[in-house]
Amino acid sequence: MDRFWLSYRETVHSSKQNPSVISESDTLLVENDFDVAIAGGTLGIFIGCALQLRGWRVLVIEQGILKGREQEWNISRPELEAFLALDLLTSHELEQAIATEYNPGRVGFHQGIELWVRDVLNIGVDPVFLLATLKAKFLAHGGILLENMGFQQAIAHPNGIEIEVAHKSNGEKLKITARLLLDAMGHFSAIARQARIENRQRTKPEGVCMVVGSCAQGIPAKAYGDLIYTFAPIQNQCQYFWEAFPAKEGRTTYLFTYVDADLARPSFSQLFADYLHWLPQYQDVELEALKFKRTLFGFFPSYQQTPLQTAWHRILQVGDSSGSQSPLSFGGFGAMVRHLTRLTNGIDAALSGNFLSRNDLRSLQPYQPSLSVTWLFQKTMSVGINQKIEGNAINYLLSTVFASMQKLGDPVLKPFLQDVVQFPALSQTMLSMAIADPVLVTKIVTQVGIPPLLDWMQHYMNLGRYSLLDRLGKSLEPTFENLLPEQRYYWQRWYDQWKYGSGGDYHS
Ligand SMILES: Cc1cc2nc3c(=O)[nH]c(=O)nc-3n(C[C@H](O)[C@H](O)[C@H](O)COP(=O)(O)OP(=O)(O)OC[C@H]3O[C@@H](n4cnc5c(N)ncnc54)[C@H](O)[C@@H]3O)c2cc1C
Repeated sequence: MDRFWLSYRETVHSSKQNPSVISESDTLLVENDFDVAIAGGTLGIFIGCALQLRGWRVLVIEQGILKGREQEWNISRPELEAFLALDLLTSHELEQAIATEYNPGRVGFHQGIELWVRDVLNIGVDPVFLLATLKAKFLAHGGILLENMGFQQAIAHPNGIEIEVAHKSNGEKLKITARLLLDAMGHFSAIARQARIENRQRTKPEGVCMVVGSCAQGIPAKAYGDLIYTFAPIQNQCQYFWEAFPAKEGRTTYLFTYVDADLARPSFSQLFADYLHWLPQYQDVELEALKFKRTLFGFFPSYQQTPLQTAWHRILQVGDSSGSQSPLSFGGFGAMVRHLTRLTNGIDAALSGNFLSRNDLRSLQPYQPSLSVTWLFQKTMSVGINQKIEGNAINYLLSTVFASMQKLGDPVLKPFLQDVVQFPALSQTMLSMAIADPVLVTKIVTQVGIPPLLDWMQHYMNLGRYSLLDRLGKSLEPTFENLLPEQRYYWQRWYDQWKYGSGGDYHS
């Protein structure tokens, strides 16, 4: 992991560019084997199965064997409705997919507030069961799955896309054609990286969330979980945040911290040593008493310009490669589930009307102010590598913010904890914070700097604008039927953009 972490940072710092994996050609393809080819099966199978059920010819290309990891994915229950609405799971299968459920969840900060919420990210979904069920359904409905086959490169033609895949062990190559290619190869997708270069965006992420943790037995049983918890000030230019919850095989605990891709940032070995150092104090247990079922680690690059806009006709990013998850959480599964109905309907409409140009597809991963405003929050929760900051500054700030949200109640607190930012809730929180501690606002300005703050103001204003547009869109929706197909396609995308971009998709 450390080798990968180091080489990742060296690559994003260097001006050397990776070889291109996407090229374009003016010649026409004779025919397309598939309507949709999806490179990457983990979250790719979600959308693959949904599209196959709608009658499209879908191919999923997975470099390994398509199966879920052992460790549960946490999510809130209402979000899982999407699986039922899209007929991906029956109610019985959905209940089987739920491995754990706990209540309440704690939010607490060193020398600050401690509060409790119910029904937030308290469901542990079993990825092994979920992916096995979706894979079986996909195959039963005629979907084609290529396992142990890695995506190599693709050529976008005016009427389709030609994809080259290679067998993992013998290197044997295969060429496939499809009308649309979905890139679901995660954060480190070579297509996503090239798209950033073509879009003249930075390939170096503005933020990185590092996480280490474990699932272990022997921790004293607790019914509650921690959504975000701190019990120490800043160390090593990092504020350590903790998360814990009951799991099928014990208790999961994570230590995570918001950093950047600077070469001086800690290695995973250092972070893991700190995790083991603090874990006994956090969970009130001796290390010797623990039986580790597995260790967990990863890092999540996040970009200010998200979601990633496709750079080509006929190619679209979905899942982690699209960067559509909040930079605050590592809830990429949750983000995909939240957008699954929108994406399935949108891709279905794009295929039906042949709206597969770059602009048509960009409207499926549009700008969302509700996501862009979260940037400032990540910045206030991280410490620059050379920044001088009071040891308890982040704890104090978060404590004040959450105290304000608590006063405003669940309608403000709960969406925020589920990665949904809404204009009224954000405005009320900022006002309440400014009244509670006017000096803190000046401290935030000093910590984050004026240019990022001005940039943030634009997203904040857009969030307000989108909230109004969302209300307007709701009253316009019934008239979509009278429009021409292309007009309807775009109106529906704008409507979705306002809804999701204002956090209007949130259901308590
Ligand atoms: C420790 C940890 C805890 C997490 N906890 C949660 C949680 O509680 N809740 C939550 O919502 N999210 C959680 N996440 C995030 C979640 O796991 C990710 O968002 C999700 O796995 C992203 O799926 P993806 O398919 O987009 O990308 P990935 O998981 O990166 O999968 C990419 C897929 O593409 C395949 N692939 C890659 N390259 C190729 C290629 N060249 N050809 C073919 N296939 C290829 C890979 O084999 C893989 O199947 C957690 C992540 C970690 C690391």
